[in-house]
Amino acid sequence: MTLVSTPAVVLQTHRYSESSKIVRLATRDLGVQSAIAKGVLRPKSPFGAALETLSEGVAQLYHKETRELQTLAAFDVIELRRGLAGDLGRFAGAAALAEVMLKMAPAAPLAAAYDALTHGLDALAAVTPDQVDAVAVRWVWLLVGVLGFAPELDACVRDGSPVTGNGGGGEGTIAFNAADGGVLCGRCAGLQPSPPTRLPRQAYRDLLTLNDAGAELPALDAAHAAAHRRLVARFVRHHLGESGALRALDFWEHHAWVTPPPRPAHISATS
Ligand SMILES: [Zn+2]
Repeated sequence: MTLVSTPAVVLQTHRYSESSKIVRLATRDLGVQSAIAKGVLRPKSPFGAALETLSEGVAQLYHKETRELQTLAAFDVIELRRGLAGDLGRFAGAAALAEVMLKMAPAAPLAAAYDALTHGLDALAAVTPDQVDAVAVRWVWLLVGVLGFAPELDACVRDGSPVTGNGGGGEGTIAFNAADGGVLCGRCAGLQPSPPTRLPRQAYRDLLTLNDAGAELPALDAAHAAAHRRLVARFVRHHLGESGALRALDFWEHHAWVTPPPRPAHISATS
């Protein structure tokens, strides 16, 4: 057993006993880890208020590879991210991002995923209110990408054929299929047993921009933002299969406290 010091973000906490919590941490050096924080609920706990969901700090973990539950010795908070908790739209996006990390990241070092998570949380805290959704959608895509599930958006995911210029399998739309992991050319879209999602040209351009961290964010109105949330949420669900409920992702996707339920016209549903 070794004492490891690593940057970490609290993804989830559960009360374990009168005085202890079990926390799920995204760590930069050890991947996603579960740890028990003993005495954290006592009034004079050295952890104080730091072990809240989404707070970031330096975790000291007694770590043993063969153990499922590590022991958290200390957590020195750097950023509590209280600004996210005070705004439901930002918080919902941040919680969805944390859930994707929790469910898709391995218990192995993956610094790029950790950095995508923290950059996403920082961006959500800083962005103007009208771009909260675009930022959340972007960072869910980018996190999914560094976790090894990047969608193929430039050419047909099945045979590499161009998807633009020939209608992409439909009148002015580009076909996208979560099961294949990207866009389809007209021929491959026609061979699908069930019709793929049809992205209008602008939605396809926005999807490319959302997946490019260096590009300016697209301006998404409420209906288009809802369609993009739905598209990435469906992609995540498909790649996770039957690995349990994704409550934060569902909550963020449906977003009903801000906008009425989206009309399905912008990106047509396949299921
Ligand atoms: Zn094709």
